Amino acid sequence: MRRVATIAEMRQCRDDWRRQGLSVALAPTMGFFHEGHLALMRRAKTLADRVVVSLFVNPLQFGPNEDLASYPRDLERDAALAAEAGVDALFIPTTSEMYGADFQTKVVVSGLSQGLCGASRPGHFDGVATVVTKLFHIVAPDVAVFGEKDFQQLAVLKRMAADLHFNLRIVSQPIVREQDGLAMSSRNSYLTAAERQSAVCLSQSLALAKQLARDESVSVAAIEQAVTEYIEKQPGFVVEYASVVDGESLRHADAVGQNSLLALAARVNGRVRLIDNAMLRRS
Ligand code: AMP
Repeated sequence: MRRVATIAEMRQCRDDWRRQGLSVALAPTMGFFHEGHLALMRRAKTLADRVVVSLFVNPLQFGPNEDLASYPRDLERDAALAAEAGVDALFIPTTSEMYGADFQTKVVVSGLSQGLCGASRPGHFDGVATVVTKLFHIVAPDVAVFGEKDFQQLAVLKRMAADLHFNLRIVSQPIVREQDGLAMSSRNSYLTAAERQSAVCLSQSLALAKQLARDESVSVAAIEQAVTEYIEKQPGFVVEYASVVDGESLRHADAVGQNSLLALAARVNGRVRLIDNAMLRRS
């Protein structure tokens, strides 16, 4: 596996592959790899001849009071895991390589970025859309892989790729979970042992939502309330949102339909922010 630090070298690598007629898959990440990331990498391997994983903790997508400085990092472990997963190039640019001193361009996907996580993280999806645009231009992949755990991110990036005519396919990877059901996340490392035990309430609340959704007499509001109450039974857990939305438009649903999704975000003791989601079906 090649470690690539500069944009010029990444482009060179990509051009060499293109000359050899090889296709390329990209999986953008912020590192501190877990099985969710590795599933993305393995999926990418099945989709193209060469796999690029970018590892960049993107300052543009963090708010002023968020965890940019404390975001977990372990480059050597990440590089070993990526190599083991069959990644061909690990692209690890510095912040100054990605954002020159005079940087002033932003990509905004207006509608889809507004609600859910966008409501409490203003500017977050502008940061995501901007860095992913840059990565798409640098790596020029044939296919890019993103996880369904960040469902709104996936919807925003699909819209962006279509609107800006990126010549690539976006593939989504189902959520990888711990044995007890907690969605894997680099941010789970912030949880204390007691918080980690309680955090299973998120995936359990989704199971409850799925069960309630099968009963047509249960309204969307009742499902959302049941999920919120279930999570908030755990000391220190506060629900930021628990919303039934359409899986594509992300608009709030009046009733559970074909493509409905329960998306939720919760804060743990004001310190850790966790997200999760699941599709709901009527029957
Ligand atoms: P991150 O490093 O957290 O920015 O995530 C990088 C990519 O991995 C994103 O496309 C995420 O959606 C995806 N990802 C993170 N956690 C999971 C998970 N538990 N299951 C599936 N994909 C994930």
